[in-house]
Amino acid sequence: MPTKSCTSCNAPLALEGATEFGCPKCGIEIKRCYRCREQSIPYTCPKCGFGGP
Ligand SMILES: [Zn+2]
Ligand SMILES: [Zn+2]
Repeated sequence: MPTKSCTSCNAPLALEGATEFGCPKCGIEIKRCYRCREQSIPYTCPKCGFGGP
């Protein structure tokens, strides 16, 4: 089992409050840790490059 990691900062998703959702453009799974959510750090899709808050 691969360890899930945050798409934005690459930190392991161990903390509660992490979120996962599909990229609106290509559907790949985007994961964000609690910290990145709190700080509204933008993500960039590793596949298609789509970014968002
Ligand atoms: Zn993060
Ligand atoms: Zn994408």
